[in-house]
Amino acid sequence: MKKGLLFVVSGPSGTGKGTVCGEFVRRTEISLSVSMTTRKPRPGETDGKDYYFVSEELFLKTVSNDGFLEYAKVYDHYYGTPKAPVTTKLAAGTDVLLEIDTQGALDVRREWPEGIFVYILPPSMRELRRRIEGRGTESREAIDLRLGESLKEMERIDQYDYCVINARAQEAADSLTAILRAEHARVGHDIHETIRAYKEEIRCYTHPSI
Ligand code: 5GP
Repeated sequence: MKKGLLFVVSGPSGTGKGTVCGEFVRRTEISLSVSMTTRKPRPGETDGKDYYFVSEELFLKTVSNDGFLEYAKVYDHYYGTPKAPVTTKLAAGTDVLLEIDTQGALDVRREWPEGIFVYILPPSMRELRRRIEGRGTESREAIDLRLGESLKEMERIDQYDYCVINARAQEAADSLTAILRAEHARVGHDIHETIRAYKEEIRCYTHPSI
């Protein structure tokens, strides 16, 4: 069976990648991986849907049981991608989407070089600031800190395969959908199996007795 594609999306905090990925998931058959985190749920977030909200103890136990595909500490909290659901889905031919930070994405890239790595950029730093301010959850100093960290993080963009600028979420989701479609059309190692099947088919037509 053809394996699913591992699709990894990162981008600075406030770029709107959550909205873009939500729209992308609605339009395609891709399955969004639910991460585990030690941070507390925000209003409106549901355990098991947005994240598995767990204690630090349980998180570290999962680390020692080799239960994560990758994990990282982001802004004082742990975040990790549970390994088993991802590998099971990929083996069954389902595409899987990870929405994770740059450290995690680059770890996955080492283990899974055949994955597709997409970085989402804001249309400008001014717009990124406006979006973070709009959330109303951070102080001015915290926003400055995040913007500085975002710029540092963007330096690693050349380790990604694609870059999508999120000026409008619908258009950015169009781009993700087009990338997924193009990656499915890529000539891969398994293409010769298709050609072999075609050869077999034509052989049967030519010699119907076989
Ligand atoms: P938030 O707390 O705003 O939901 O997420 C903070 C950051 O953690 C975001 O950049 C998000 O992409 C990242 N993140 C979420 N889940 C994971 C994960 O499983 N692994 C890693 N490495 N980063 C994650």
